[in-house]
Amino acid sequence: MRTLVITQDENRIDEQEIARAGKIILNGGLVAFPTETVYGLGGDGLNPDSARKIYEAKGRPSDNPLIVHIYRMEDLEILVKEIPESARKLAEAFWPGPLTMILPKDDLVPDETTGGLDTVAVRMPSHKVALAFIKAAGGFVAAPSANLSGKPSPTLAKYVLEDMDGRIDMIIDGGDIAIGLESTIVDLTGDVPMILRPGYITLDMLKDVLGEVTMDPTLLDDDCKERPKAPGMRYRHYAPKGDMLIIEGEPDKVVKEINMLVEESRQKGYKTGVIATAENADKYRADVVKVVGNRNDDTAIAASLYRILREFDDEEADAIYSESFATDGFGHAIMNRLLKAAGHKYIKIQEEV
Ligand code: AMP
Ligand code: MG
Repeated sequence: MRTLVITQDENRIDEQEIARAGKIILNGGLVAFPTETVYGLGGDGLNPDSARKIYEAKGRPSDNPLIVHIYRMEDLEILVKEIPESARKLAEAFWPGPLTMILPKDDLVPDETTGGLDTVAVRMPSHKVALAFIKAAGGFVAAPSANLSGKPSPTLAKYVLEDMDGRIDMIIDGGDIAIGLESTIVDLTGDVPMILRPGYITLDMLKDVLGEVTMDPTLLDDDCKERPKAPGMRYRHYAPKGDMLIIEGEPDKVVKEINMLVEESRQKGYKTGVIATAENADKYRADVVKVVGNRNDDTAIAASLYRILREFDDEEADAIYSESFATDGFGHAIMNRLLKAAGHKYIKIQEEV
């Protein structure tokens, strides 16, 4: 299959090109498209064959459900059995935007799209190219992130091409992604709304709208024996080819510790890499040092994290050391993804007493 790449500017959408992309979806094909979180790999959300093709293109297990993307509120009614008051309030506050809601699915939504679950994940993205594309595609675009299973979600069209060339019909290049981490997922099917995946929309933001909101216990406790409620959170996530370790502690001590580890790895003949905050970057003696952003700038850190993880693979780094970042607010989502990438390997430097 030849994969066509087209370019679209959020401020100057070419309706004809978008109509062409939409037609591919309506004909059962696959199109990768930009959203404000990461690039998505879209197929017709109401067509079981499209869901199957998505799983095949990604090499993803078919029990890991897809998120159905819509472009207008009235279409939510078509996908779900009923819309609880909580969903209306959240849509009012955060849609279009980086929030996915889990709701009881209507029979119209094929089991293939939801991985056999009787609930469906729905999101209305805010990226203008995404909204125009979903409309042209008939209104219901099922899409996971547009990476091969086992790779970081793509934040640039070149990474979509790297993973999907020859596997899908079209890639819409919409330039840089604003957020860089996948959407917050909130489950509204239980008594109390529950976050299943942290993201840009934080626990406090949801509480401001709904009052009580809980967090899947597996997100708070590394040693939790329960299974995460979002099937996708159960899979081994992206890990760089090199061994990755996170070091937490007071900044100067972290620099010292990482430089010591770098030296040890060097002596073993390893190529070393560091994921550094801008404040510390020039203090490291590793072969490759990548600046993820300023220490207090969650937005910048999230936006560059996945790109940096891919770059370390290109560099063929054997040992990668990362600073640890703040865990409050949006930071929770950043550390959640960083820990997954490191296979939860981290050390904490104790404060001296
Ligand atoms: P991705 O599109 O790659 O961001 O992955 C979608 C995420 O949404 C995965 O972690 C899925 O497991 C999760 N998800 C989708 N549908 C549901 C659902 N009905 N219940 C719980 N989690 C879901
Ligand atoms: Mg994904």
